[in-house]
Amino acid sequence: MAFDYDSENIFAKILRGEIPNRTVYENEHALAFEDIRPQAPVHVLVIPKGPYMSLDHFAQEASPEEQAGFFAAVGEVCRKVDVSHGFRAIANARLHGVQDVPHFHLHIIGGAQLGRMLP
Ligand code: C5P
Repeated sequence: MAFDYDSENIFAKILRGEIPNRTVYENEHALAFEDIRPQAPVHVLVIPKGPYMSLDHFAQEASPEEQAGFFAAVGEVCRKVDVSHGFRAIANARLHGVQDVPHFHLHIIGGAQLGRMLP
């Protein structure tokens, strides 16, 4: 499919410094920050700096360097926050995935026992 990226989405504004965020980790290709409505004691969003609207967009079109930088950031976040007992990583995509912000983001959620998750 053709991916249509909206550069006025709120995470694009965060990346441009137009909206503040509570940064957990940043590298050349990715930014990780605390979710403003945390669903658990740990709730961090990791986003690529490039204009990718969803996980499939990122996986299909981001360069190997961008993908490596993104997953390096995921690794650093997991080092920094307390997920020693485990966590959940979620990427909602588009309409059926109930994605609110159309810039790819991985939720890292943990710090407490989570319930089972089924659709
Ligand atoms: O995966 P989905 O798009 O539904 O989730 C968007 C997430 O972005 C929500 O968890 C929301 O709390 C978070 N958010 C944020 N900062 C904003 C706007 C939304 O952390 N300024």
